[in-house]
Amino acid sequence: MLIVQKFGGTSVGDLERIQNVANRVSTTVKKGHDVVVVVSAMSGETNKLVGYAEHFSSNPSRVEMDMLLSSGERVTASLLSIALQEMGHKAVAMTGRKAGIVTDNHHTKARIEEIDPTTMQNAVKEGKIVVVAGFQGVNEDGDVTTLGRGGSDLSAVAIAGALQADLCEIYTDVSGIFTTDPRIEPKAKKLDKISYDEMLELASLGAKVLQNRSVELAKKLNVNLVTRTSFSDEEGTLITKEENIMEKPLVSGIALDRNQARISLLGVKDRPGIASDIFNKLAAAEVNVDMIIQNKAVDETTNIDFTVPVGDLHDAKAVVEEFVKNGEIQDESYNEDICKVSVVGVGMKSHAGVAAKAFSTMAQNNININMISTSEIKVSMVIDEKYAELAVRSLHDAYQLDK
Ligand code: ADP
Ligand code: ASP
Ligand code: MG
Repeated sequence: MLIVQKFGGTSVGDLERIQNVANRVSTTVKKGHDVVVVVSAMSGETNKLVGYAEHFSSNPSRVEMDMLLSSGERVTASLLSIALQEMGHKAVAMTGRKAGIVTDNHHTKARIEEIDPTTMQNAVKEGKIVVVAGFQGVNEDGDVTTLGRGGSDLSAVAIAGALQADLCEIYTDVSGIFTTDPRIEPKAKKLDKISYDEMLELASLGAKVLQNRSVELAKKLNVNLVTRTSFSDEEGTLITKEENIMEKPLVSGIALDRNQARISLLGVKDRPGIASDIFNKLAAAEVNVDMIIQNKAVDETTNIDFTVPVGDLHDAKAVVEEFVKNGEIQDESYNEDICKVSVVGVGMKSHAGVAAKAFSTMAQNNININMISTSEIKVSMVIDEKYAELAVRSLHDAYQLDK
C-alpha cells in the first residue's frame, strides 16, 4: 500500500517526539508499505513566528509572512528525514515547491491549484521515504505561499489525492474525532466513523481537529481519511461517505468557534443595492462573512449585523470605514467577545425539533442567543464568549452524546 501519514504540531513537538514519529514511520515501512510523510511545524512554532512579525508591524505583508511561516515546517521535515536516515532508511525531505505543490496567489490562505507528483513518485520508486514540509506551496511567480492555519492537513490530503494513495492518516494529539472537543467536555465520545459532510460542518464551525478545506478535498477526491493519535496504537476515526455509515445519529457533534467577531452597522442608508455594495466590497477584500442579520428599516435607515473570523477583522474594518466616510453608514461597532456554538448531524434532515431543543437548552442555562443560522444538517448560535464552555457541555448533555 501507499500511505500518506501526516503528523501535527504536538506529535513533532520536541526532538524525542520526532524520534517517535521516525519509529512509527519505520514500522510502517518495515511492514512493506510505501510511505509519504507530511509534517507540521513543532507545536507553538508558527505562533512564535507570527509573534515575531507582530513585534514589527500590526499588519505585516502577506508575502513576507508566507516566507516566514513556511520555515517552521521545513525544520521538522529535515529533522525527521535526518532521524530516518540515521535509522538506516533512505529518506528525503522536500519543501512544498519540490513536492510539486502549485497554488494560487492568495498569500497566507492560498488554494492548491495542482500538484505535479513526479518528484515524489520518483523518490518513492527509488525506495525513499519522502518527508514533505506541510502547509506550503509555491505560486506561478515562484513565491512561497501558505495554505491557511492548520493547512498541513490540506497538504496531506492533496498529496494523497495526487499520488492516489490507499490511505491518508492524520496523526494528532487526540485519538480521533469526538462528539465535541474532549478538552472542553471530558465525557465526549470518540466516533468510529463520520461522514465527510458532517466532518466538513464540524471543521468549518470551529472543530480544528481537521482543517475544513482538507475535508472538502478529501470528499471531492474520495480520499480514505483516518484521524488517530500518534501517542498510541488506538484505532482512530474513519471519515467516509454517508452511505458507508449504517447507524445515522440524529446529532453527531457539537462545535465551538471562539474565533468570531461581530460587526454592527448602524444607520445604514436603506436603498436598493446597499447590501450588495457592502458585501461585494467585503468579498473583494477576501473577508469571509458568515451570519448576517438586517433589521426592519425605520426612517429610511436600517441596521445590519454580521460575523467574520477575527483574522479578517482588520480588512473588514477598512471596508466599513469607507462607507462611514461617504455617509452611507452612520456608525459601526465591533465585538470580539462572542463565540459560535453549533449542533451538527445528518439525522436532522429527517427529524423535527433539533433546533428547538438547542434553543431551550440555552434558555434553561440563561444564555442569550444573539444570532441564529441553520442549514439542513446544522444549527448555529452566536452567544457571549463567557458562556462558550457551558453551552457546549449543556448541548452535549441535551442530545445525550455521552450515551
Ligand atoms: P494538530 O497540531 O495535530 O494539527 P490540532 O491542535 O490542530 O492538532 O487539532 C487537534 C485538537 O482539536 C485536539 O487537541 C482537540 O482539542 C481539538 N478538537 C476540537 N474539536 C474536536 C473534536 N470534535 N474531536 C477531536 N478533537 C477536537
Ligand atoms: N503550522 C501551521 C499552523 O500552525 C500549519 C499546521 O500545523 O497545519 O497553522
Ligand atoms: Mg491542526
